[in-house]
Amino acid sequence: MHEQAIIQSVIDSIRQSLASQKLTGKVKSISLKIGALELHGEESFKQIFSVSAAGTQMEGAELSLTVVPARIKCECGHEGAAGEGVDHHCDMPIAECPRCGEVCRVSGGRGVDGIDLEVEEVPIKI
Ligand SMILES: [Zn+2]
Ligand SMILES: [Zn+2]
Repeated sequence: MHEQAIIQSVIDSIRQSLASQKLTGKVKSISLKIGALELHGEESFKQIFSVSAAGTQMEGAELSLTVVPARIKCECGHEGAAGEGVDHHCDMPIAECPRCGEVCRVSGGRGVDGIDLEVEEVPIKI
């Protein structure tokens, strides 16, 4: 469910920026950075995106994702990317420290930023 919501907000913000720049061409490609905890998998994200983008300027655009991992910082001093299997539906997700086995809070891995677009050039009408 949350994938659908975040994809809708990405689509809305792209639509707004296209409108404000008066770009009416088709979007060829979109690349964005997304936190690892926002998606179930790149494939399902892309699938939902292409369904949601149907009928918009973004229909058929190539989507590339840079997934930003969530991180853990343990009291034992270990710091690093949180491994697989973090329950992202939890408001305060946790993960086991790979060094000492202690359960620690996970930070980061949320949100979307750095949306880049490539839009087909629009012929200017005189
Ligand atoms: Zn989920
Ligand atoms: Zn530790």
